[in-house]
Amino acid sequence: MKNILISITAVFMASMALADYPDRPVTLVVPFAAGGPTDHIARDLAESLRKTLGQAVTVENTGGSGGTVGTARVAKAVPDGYTLLLHHIGMATAPALYRSLVYRPLDDFDYLGMVNEAPMTLIGRANFPAANYGELIKWISANPGRASLANAGVGSASHLCGLLFQSALKLPMTTVPYKGTGPAMADLASGQVDLMCDQTTNTVPQIESGKVKAYAVATTKKSINSTLAKLPTLDEAGLKGFNITVWHALYAPRGTPKAVIDKLNAALKLALKDPELLKRSEALGVTVISDSRINPAEHKRFVEAETVKWGGIIRAVGQFAD
Ligand code: ASP
Repeated sequence: MKNILISITAVFMASMALADYPDRPVTLVVPFAAGGPTDHIARDLAESLRKTLGQAVTVENTGGSGGTVGTARVAKAVPDGYTLLLHHIGMATAPALYRSLVYRPLDDFDYLGMVNEAPMTLIGRANFPAANYGELIKWISANPGRASLANAGVGSASHLCGLLFQSALKLPMTTVPYKGTGPAMADLASGQVDLMCDQTTNTVPQIESGKVKAYAVATTKKSINSTLAKLPTLDEAGLKGFNITVWHALYAPRGTPKAVIDKLNAALKLALKDPELLKRSEALGVTVISDSRINPAEHKRFVEAETVKWGGIIRAVGQFAD
């Protein structure tokens, strides 16, 4: 009898706790350094989620190893809805890029919904001796291995883009890894590294202010953003089929109560309708996901399909990390 009463009390307390969720700040882990595109999107989203959840959403930057350090941190966190992850395409590329990954992207997380999609751009330091894409390729061909290419580590979108770019050109470059493309952009703008591929979230303001040069867009679809529309796509420039769109999505550790997942999904849907967020996204060439795809099942299906797609492409290029 006593045991039954204890269980009933525990269930009652747990459901009270769920009804009150969230009753304290929520941590949103970004698996990259501050100042980069994933961080930018997370801070924007955190502000809109704060409005819809009625609690502060604090961004925590846990960068390193192409996003795998921060992702591992969330995989092991208590599944109570107070530790969430905002990650990008790396969720689908890391399994093929790493020989051993300490988490399983498809099994160790609860999926909350897709957030947005951003094209990538190929950019260079402002004083790089190539005015356009054609001159860039001539310079790289004449100086094999000399161009330095910044990225956010193995498994990051910038790494994937750089890897496919070198493989398509069949020309090697010197890779320089950072904990995120925020610090990489600072080095590019001050001329410490030559080139980088990055999401438009990070690159559009820098291109517009003249701090970096823009060479091409790495997505086949022409952008309606006026800064990006002036650039050739890599596909048009001769690298047929070159196409990387970086999507971002929200996750919780596996085992999060269904009521919390439903609440977070509803909050995400509302947050992605925030007119301020939509305006800022459009200015950066970012497409916010439409309502029907902000859905855990659809999100998981998409990541499964992306894992298969990128797994094949990465294995064909054949470059792996431990
Ligand atoms: N844009 C980065 C990447 O290359 C990561 C970041 O957001 O800092 O994956």
